[in-house]
Amino acid sequence: VPELPEVETVARLLRPLLVGRRVTGGEVRWARTVGGDARRFLAAVRGASVVALSRRAKYLRLDLSRRGADAGAVIGHLRMSGRLHVLPGDAPAGPHLRVKLELDDGRALHFDDVRKFGRLEHVARAEERLGELGPEPLEPAFTAAWLHGALRARRRRLKPLLLDQSFLAGLGNIYVDEALFAAGLNPLLPSDRVRLEQSERLVAAIRSILARAIAREGSSFDGFYRTPEGKAGGYQEEFRVYGREGEPCRTCGEAIVRIVVGQRGTHLCPACQPRGRGARQRRSR
Ligand SMILES: [Zn+2]
Repeated sequence: VPELPEVETVARLLRPLLVGRRVTGGEVRWARTVGGDARRFLAAVRGASVVALSRRAKYLRLDLSRRGADAGAVIGHLRMSGRLHVLPGDAPAGPHLRVKLELDDGRALHFDDVRKFGRLEHVARAEERLGELGPEPLEPAFTAAWLHGALRARRRRLKPLLLDQSFLAGLGNIYVDEALFAAGLNPLLPSDRVRLEQSERLVAAIRSILARAIAREGSSFDGFYRTPEGKAGGYQEEFRVYGREGEPCRTCGEAIVRIVVGQRGTHLCPACQPRGRGARQRRSR
């Protein structure tokens, strides 16, 4: 399932292909992808130009304008299996094409989606759709002091809290598990028991893992995620815990275990991420 690094990769690779382009026409093959009303979607985007393409949390945002005036935005969410790519205008549709937008340079944006949970919807005001999101972990406002205060203000276990998009934007199952391992924190630790130095480790872990995963163009673990160029990401080769149940921890050799936390499969090393107050203090190198 695409998380921040995968969506950021899609945004970076699509940006030069889409910004400045005008939508000349389109086709909707699965109305639910565009929110249910294909005619309304096509009317809203036809003739509009893409003036910016950005990522917020796991959403893609294409800001539109028409004759210099604000024309709303298209908000995309890849969900399980959505895939956006730009192809020559005469390229044949794939078997899972849901939406196609024709562009003024003769190419077309294709939204393919095997599982059909993905969305590509037009909204008049993007902020209203994106308003309930927490801070971006790669922005300067995401500091240890902020995280420590925010964790203490809640009383939830770390794993589900970090997955909560209204608390922190962009993290999903893979990167939360990897970040908690890197920080030496147990996924079940109550958030109000996290100390400042643990918050510092967690901020550093989240930032470095996301940056590294973006550099590797994300993780292709479940077979669905591909970059707009059709390539697999590379970060799955660097997983320390995610999907490694029963395999030895690369730090201590203990077997990685999988537990269920808040209905989500959760991977951890029981030695590197012990439960309770005796949590290991990572020694500074
Ligand atoms: Zn370990």
